[in-house]
Amino acid sequence: MLFINNEWVDSQSGKTLDTFNPHDGSIIAKVAEGDKTDIDLAVSAAKIAFHRNSEWRLLDASARGQILCRFADLVKRDLQYLADLESYNNGMLINFARWAIAGSEKSIRYIASLADKIQGDTLPADGDVFAYTLKQPMGICGLILPWNVPVLMFINKVVTALAAGCTVVVKPAEQTPLTALALAALLKEAGLPAGVVNVVNGYGPSAGAALTHHPGVAKISFTGSVEVGKLIQKAAGANNLKRVTLELGGKSPLVIMADADLDMAVRTAAFAVFGNQGQMCIAASRLYVQSSIYDKFVEKAVEFAKNIKIGNPSEPTTQHGPQIDEEMMNKVLHYIEKGQQEGGKLLIGGQRIGDQGFYIQPAVFSNVTDDMTIAKEEIFGPVQSILKFDTLEEVIDRANKTSYGLAAGIFTTSVTNALQFSKHVEAGIIWVNNYLSFPPQCPFGGFKDSGIGRENGMDCVNSYLEVKTVNMALSKKF
Ligand code: NAP
Ligand code: MG
Repeated sequence: MLFINNEWVDSQSGKTLDTFNPHDGSIIAKVAEGDKTDIDLAVSAAKIAFHRNSEWRLLDASARGQILCRFADLVKRDLQYLADLESYNNGMLINFARWAIAGSEKSIRYIASLADKIQGDTLPADGDVFAYTLKQPMGICGLILPWNVPVLMFINKVVTALAAGCTVVVKPAEQTPLTALALAALLKEAGLPAGVVNVVNGYGPSAGAALTHHPGVAKISFTGSVEVGKLIQKAAGANNLKRVTLELGGKSPLVIMADADLDMAVRTAAFAVFGNQGQMCIAASRLYVQSSIYDKFVEKAVEFAKNIKIGNPSEPTTQHGPQIDEEMMNKVLHYIEKGQQEGGKLLIGGQRIGDQGFYIQPAVFSNVTDDMTIAKEEIFGPVQSILKFDTLEEVIDRANKTSYGLAAGIFTTSVTNALQFSKHVEAGIIWVNNYLSFPPQCPFGGFKDSGIGRENGMDCVNSYLEVKTVNMALSKKF
């Protein structure tokens, strides 16, 4: 079903799409497949819900925040169900899903708390005038989601747009349509008026493109590949001038200095690239290790990878699950092959496991150089590429030699190293002696081709707001 105007409806065409369990490739549900006609209906519902006299627009800002807090309570209540569904549809480890959803519940509460802190300024304007700014919701927002962390993505984008007072049409990824529908039901239960949130499952080139081209949509927020991000930016300017927030991919460098705590660095570096089967935009897919500890580090990294327990993601003791689908699995296997052809040394893993489901044994490559494909392109799979460097100066330059700029990390016990690296590396997030932590209080987004704009942090609602200046004459002499 699609979720339009707080109702469950079939797609107008009557078409459905199959959705799979990546553990064994079996079909688990048929989901209504929306296209342009359904997007038009959803945008119309969102438009009515955004009318200045609508229930939603007349709500106090604090009441908007309260609805979102009720939503957080319901996410907490249904955490196990949501985590099971996420794991079933996405192949995400059940413990990882629980962690991500618990984090998302915290994000909702943080973002909800911003709903009634949106305020303009009074301005010391020239002339005999009283001038002030209002910050007002942009309008109808199209939110296009990827499949890698579906609940987290839905929550981050939807809740931020709602805290700002916008209405939304969500297009989840074709591979993972289920949790978005479960979350829509919870938003309705939390008391959200009809039409404020609409969910249209379907394919990117049809439903997604209809949303990005729709002249009634004021803004698009998208997370996914750079390739589609560029299409979206173009489409956003085709029929009207939509604002865009883009969270795209990365080829994030993680640097291990010789003075680092080696065991902690090995463990964290593995999680930073094998976590969620490597399907993370922030994956540390370029691991730079200082030459004096290189051999020791590689030995420990291989040992670590060897002991990762692979299996059914719904078993709590499993440490590594399947890739999202056959296409992604084959893409990753192709990168692994290319890595070997270009001279990388595959020390462990890299093979498909079994012939059911989409499992790949985590791969560790040594002797990787900057010019190899596996060091340049986003793989989105469990492939650890270990490169060697000598000095901090050198590694900063090499870290920046990419069109991406999402995240970067350094393990070192020297404050100077940490400060130099943090200052000079072109990335939206720098981690020092940790990796992957992104609490809702911290802005999240990329430099360069890794995106436009930021999510999370105190300013997150601003990207869903317009600033209006009101300039009022106090006398005839203005
Ligand atoms: P994608 O192609 O970028 O898709 C992301 C979302 O955009 C999906 O909902 C997709 O719909 C939609 N979409 C596709 N074409 C569109 C269009 N022309 N107009 C509007 N929306 C469109 O990502 P993917 O296919 O899932 O994965 C491909 C690669 O993207 C991966 O290998 C990985 O490198 C990267 N990726 C990055 C992230 C990240 O967090 N940065 C997340 C996921 C993937 P469909 O459901 O039809 O695909
Ligand atoms: Mg896709």
